[in-house]
Amino acid sequence: MPRHDDPTQPDEAHGSNAPQPILALRDWLDHLAKQGRLAVLPPDIALKFDLAAYAKRLDGQRATLFPRPGGHAIPVVSGLVSDRGWMAEAMGVEPDEMLARFQEAALEPLPCRETTLAPVQEVVHREVDLLKQLPLPTHNEHDGGPYISAGLMITRNPRTGKQNVTIHRCQVNGPDRLGVLLLPRHTHAFVQMAEEAGQPLDAAIVVGIDPLTLLASQAIVPMDQDELEIAGALQRRPLPVVKCLNSEIRVPAEAEIVIEGRFLPNVRELEGPFGEFPQYYGPRAKRHVMEVTAVTHRKDAIFHTIVGGGLEHLLLGAIPKEATLLAHLRRNFPNVLDVHLSPGGVMRYHLFVKIKKRQDGEAKNIMMGAFAGSFDLKQVVVVDDDVDIHNPTEVEWAMATRFQADRDLLIVGESQNSKLDPSTRDGVGAKMGIDATKPLSAPEMTFKRIRVPGEEKIDVAEVLKRRTTADWRGALKP
Ligand code: MN
Repeated sequence: MPRHDDPTQPDEAHGSNAPQPILALRDWLDHLAKQGRLAVLPPDIALKFDLAAYAKRLDGQRATLFPRPGGHAIPVVSGLVSDRGWMAEAMGVEPDEMLARFQEAALEPLPCRETTLAPVQEVVHREVDLLKQLPLPTHNEHDGGPYISAGLMITRNPRTGKQNVTIHRCQVNGPDRLGVLLLPRHTHAFVQMAEEAGQPLDAAIVVGIDPLTLLASQAIVPMDQDELEIAGALQRRPLPVVKCLNSEIRVPAEAEIVIEGRFLPNVRELEGPFGEFPQYYGPRAKRHVMEVTAVTHRKDAIFHTIVGGGLEHLLLGAIPKEATLLAHLRRNFPNVLDVHLSPGGVMRYHLFVKIKKRQDGEAKNIMMGAFAGSFDLKQVVVVDDDVDIHNPTEVEWAMATRFQADRDLLIVGESQNSKLDPSTRDGVGAKMGIDATKPLSAPEMTFKRIRVPGEEKIDVAEVLKRRTTADWRGALKP
């Protein structure tokens, strides 16, 4: 794990030998490269489709780095965190500590540290031409054009001055114009406040940032909690930030690229379609417009793109959601041990919950608690503590052998769901809860999993490597 050389950094209480969190995108690329997890593709791969094709095929196995994409001087990187284990490494914790660590950071944010030494402002473009200045990829077949898909959108509450950080999809609609989809959350509320006063709203988009700040941007926290302070808590140091050239917004000083601008009041332009996390297109419609006023970047900047629906896209949303749902459930059900948003459920719709069962019927209360905790959830499966919820085959086994539909199924019709689930009626659909726990009254042997004594002690990798042979006959000779 790379160490940072800033003497103010390491958290003494955390111990000097413990793995340290990753602080910068470049450190993370070093780490991935050392682990053999970074594929550097040939130069000049086309920005339209070809770049996304490589990134998608290598998703989950390798991060991808594209030198001179489409002949552009700025390289593109993708797939920075396409595995849960990688994210735990970036945090400097074990995978089973990851949700608790994230929740801790969300509850104990660390204020940012203002600086004027900002690598991200080494190069300044006040004459903006996005298509010339940045390598802008087009991903899916029917996407409305090139997109900025991995940009942290930073805005300030016009009333309180507090910042908000999140990711919105931004379609490039002209040399200095972006069409931005604002779902009804914090950025949307700020733009609405500004619009009501007939004012534009300043905004900055940060592209090319460390994995922990990326993850922090997806935290589910109240309005006026600056997600950059959660990034600081995850990094165990106050995040260095710098003031934008054209606004009061503070952006991470060590980022690669910043696109400064403002949302125009009462202007809407067409945006979409765009390939989204459920593996379908989000529709084309009239959206908010951001006018770009400046682009700043490092001398040797790197552009980051997230291919819609890939593991990187799914995991960045899923980990903060899991952490929030776990904390939410544990308030009422302290025997909930772990939760997991499954990949097959697009890491948004299907939740697996592991419990230490205390009371028959309890699984159904837990399902209702989970549905109340996130409107996106469509299916909840509750299992006992002998089931690995990170393995979908294990969960299906529990459903196959511990669940009866007439007794253990909960259906709630006509409820609010994700609008991006095409099987809903504009976001109205059904919830399904499955109790795949064993009844407490069952005799012990009825649900006892079979086990061969000693099987868990065998080092399979070692056996596969040393004991695989083409000459089995020779091996039998005395
Ligand atoms: Mn927020």
